[in-house]
Amino acid sequence: MPRLIFLGPPGAGKGTQAQNLASYWQIPHISTGDILRGAMRSQSPLGIKAQDYVDRGELVPDSLVLDLVEDRLSQPDTQNGWILDGFPRNVSQASFLAELLQKLTHNGVRVVNLEVPDDVLVARLLGRGRADDTEQVIRRRLEVYREQTLPLIDFYSDRQQLVSVNGDQPLEKVSSDLQSLLPS
Ligand code: AMP
Repeated sequence: MPRLIFLGPPGAGKGTQAQNLASYWQIPHISTGDILRGAMRSQSPLGIKAQDYVDRGELVPDSLVLDLVEDRLSQPDTQNGWILDGFPRNVSQASFLAELLQKLTHNGVRVVNLEVPDDVLVARLLGRGRADDTEQVIRRRLEVYREQTLPLIDFYSDRQQLVSVNGDQPLEKVSSDLQSLLPS
């Protein structure tokens, strides 16, 4: 029953790897970025509130994100496992998640840190062409990652949940490293 959290900077390949593993294990891939982009496309109240933060490369406030994660992880399709991609992004989200998982009795969560050097990240993000992939917004997203998300590496390694994988390799090699490191 795999339960995985994907950490790692923007452009590390979290989305692709999370998606591949989720379809391999047939469990939901839960990306807060995808959920927010869907909400912005449909101009729902959440999407309207989130838009400005996403456009600037800032984190959307926790008050908008925590409820949506709690709702999603409470759906019946999460019973056999899940992969979280892009959440948690700061220490308060990680503390909230730890409590939520205890409440839902979701145990044995592993955290994957995909390691990729900065220059490779910027080149990958510039080549991706998403609306929030302009150079200025990319730079801000990397700063936000360093300031707010990087502390989670210590948070999870202190709890002995962290597995690090070299993300600066061909996609198939990253996938096979992940599969050999993780329980199926
Ligand atoms: P991503 O697709 O994970 O790169 O996320 C794209 C954007 O969505 C981020 O730059 C944030 O503005 C927002 N976002 C995604 N996940 C979160 C989260 N867990 N907390 C706050 N903002 C988020």
